[in-house]
Amino acid sequence: MSRGIFAGFDLGGTNLKYGLVTEGGEVLEKSSLPTPSTFGAALELIASVWREYRSRPKDRPVAAGFGFPGIFSLRERRILQAPNYPELDNVALEPALAGILNAPFRVDNDANLAAYGEWRCGAGRGVASLVHLTIGTGIGSGLILGGNLWHGHCGFAGELGHITVNPEGDKCNCGRHGCLETEAAAPKIVKNYKDLSKTKRAVKAEEVFDKAARGEVAAVKAFAIAGYYLGIALGIVINMLNPEKIVLGGGVMATGDFLLQAAVEESARRSYKASFDCCSIERAALGNDAGLIGAGLWAGAKS
Ligand SMILES: [Zn+2]
Repeated sequence: MSRGIFAGFDLGGTNLKYGLVTEGGEVLEKSSLPTPSTFGAALELIASVWREYRSRPKDRPVAAGFGFPGIFSLRERRILQAPNYPELDNVALEPALAGILNAPFRVDNDANLAAYGEWRCGAGRGVASLVHLTIGTGIGSGLILGGNLWHGHCGFAGELGHITVNPEGDKCNCGRHGCLETEAAAPKIVKNYKDLSKTKRAVKAEEVFDKAARGEVAAVKAFAIAGYYLGIALGIVINMLNPEKIVLGGGVMATGDFLLQAAVEESARRSYKASFDCCSIERAALGNDAGLIGAGLWAGAKS
């Protein structure tokens, strides 16, 4: 009999990450492949990984957890909208997965499961209320409230990436303007840098990170502007939820304190002092593995 080992799958618009996770959150192994262009091909890939895992004589997973991008309806049990991977729009995931797995499995939003991973065994461990944000090419977030992953009434809670922080801001993938995601994720930091330095050529996010690390004023300011908008969002969250901890992860957070420092300063200006003072704002601990670990642990969760 296998001990508590679970397969975790974290499907993003770019990569499918997958691996085996123990009930304590230890990653036994992990891999990543480019996300197939069609859902049918993604399903085939998941099926082949699962078959291989289940054929093993030891460390065989007993259940699987899946993090998918997009709005997953708890009522309709399907993804209504996946702006970063439209192949998933309106897909009835659970019947499709049941057809290939023949084992218990659970599905949730990828950002929710990253939050769940950080809460169970990362920087949010042990707290009763946690707000987790993943800041990369977009911004995903998840909430733990009262010791549970908070889904909201229909399953759509925790979409902090799409709260308005700049009414006059750029158009977002979701169709609205000035969302946190359009103002504080990596593409906007690059745009800020190009505007400030009057650069016309293509610039990659890593280049702006490197320049900020070397102290180039335009690059540091590009982060500070994004941090200002992130701080507005955090101020709203702090006043709204009075959370014990806010944890920030994702590729942009891995680049240094440029974004974090500006965001913390702005959130202090935008929230009640009492609520700000009892909320700690920290970096995430699990890096790119948060979603994968969260998916695996979610498969084995009791509720
Ligand atoms: Zn949006």
